[in-house]
Amino acid sequence: MTTDHITLREGEFWRSVPGYADIDTKTFLDHRWQARNSITKPGRLKPVLGNTVPDSLFSELEQAIIRSPMSLRISPYLISLINWEEPLNDPIRKQFLPLLSQLKPDHPCLALDSLDEQADTPVPGLVHRYPDKVLFLALDTCPIYCRFCTRSYTIGPDTEHVEKQALRVNRERWAQTFEYIEQHPDIEDVLVSGGDAWQLRAEQLEQIGNSLLSIPHVRRLRFATRGLAAMPQKLLTDDQWCNTLKTLVDNGRKLHKEVAVHTHFNHPNEFTWISAAASNRLMELGITVRNQSVLLRGINDDPDTMRLLVRRLGYHNIHPYYVYLHDMVTGVEDLRTSVATAVKLEKAVRGTTAGFNTPAFICDAPGGGGKRDIHSYEYYDPDTGIAVYSAPAVKPDQLFLYYDPIESLSRAGQLRWSDTDEHKLMIDEAVALARLQMSKNS
Ligand code: SF4
Repeated sequence: MTTDHITLREGEFWRSVPGYADIDTKTFLDHRWQARNSITKPGRLKPVLGNTVPDSLFSELEQAIIRSPMSLRISPYLISLINWEEPLNDPIRKQFLPLLSQLKPDHPCLALDSLDEQADTPVPGLVHRYPDKVLFLALDTCPIYCRFCTRSYTIGPDTEHVEKQALRVNRERWAQTFEYIEQHPDIEDVLVSGGDAWQLRAEQLEQIGNSLLSIPHVRRLRFATRGLAAMPQKLLTDDQWCNTLKTLVDNGRKLHKEVAVHTHFNHPNEFTWISAAASNRLMELGITVRNQSVLLRGINDDPDTMRLLVRRLGYHNIHPYYVYLHDMVTGVEDLRTSVATAVKLEKAVRGTTAGFNTPAFICDAPGGGGKRDIHSYEYYDPDTGIAVYSAPAVKPDQLFLYYDPIESLSRAGQLRWSDTDEHKLMIDEAVALARLQMSKNS
């Protein structure tokens, strides 16, 4: 039995980065220092890295960011976890710092809001798709910006090509949300996201938490944050925020309601002794933590990496809850994988550890079908890369199509996608065969 999952990066690993060579542990663990020193402009990376990487890397980054739907923001913590001796293949660099030479052309069926969340939005910043659950986008900022964000239509500052739909912290907007939830007694589950709960001030967290807990039919609250992976220092040095979260969990428990944290680790390298200390604090506070990963090409789409991630999270009391097939968002085609890859990985991972610590591999059905088990397609043709899902409990009359990246297809499949006249034919054919299969099964 391997014990790799319990072996973490220890010590002052950040000192190998020239810009952090003089940073002591106390400073590096200060969440305010991490936020203040996060990099938001490509030019600011050069003084941090010095001559450890060739200048071409900075110009490639600069040109790639101009094309990206997401702005740049990366914490010193994540910068120090990148292997700068081999940055081209580094799994953390790839998630936050795009390089022009690695970008791929978009699939013709990609979209900015690929899940069509805005169509299921009754009040600004509230997505009501499942009957008993809502997604509350409380704010539009994060401590870091992931290149592959599914909400690139709203998260972060405007970019060269994307004017974001602003969802700033706004108590009047929040009040509309609480009112809507109050008026819909079917809603039992509220996911507070954005954006990232790490960015809420303690009193904002308290207001949201207590307002939602006071609605009698709300039974479960989840605060979504990538912070545990991107800036775990907050849990060690922001006592006010941690104590507020703890109070909300206790308040919920007294009302027999769950308040949990949902986080987002994608690669085992994101988990260090600092993450372990932060997770331990959440454990001591009695807070349930679940993880939602995104399946990313060349980052975590191989069995060894995914198994290690799952075991490392489980060991630290973080339930590996979901692995999402990469959403069909624009600008990050280099990171998408195929349905077939996800199916193979699920098979390889299941059995690694206990069932309750084994993630469900899912496709969040493009166009608003919600989360579907990756295997549950009605039809899938790996040659055209088209998978067709249905969602009887969400939108019973619709079908939802996921498209594998063209690069992953056979030569014949790639040729068909190179001819625009073939697109509609392939799609119609896939939908007809899915309907035929469904009628046979009914
Ligand atoms: S932390 Fe989440 S919401 Fe923020 S940029 Fe990353 S994926 Fe998007």
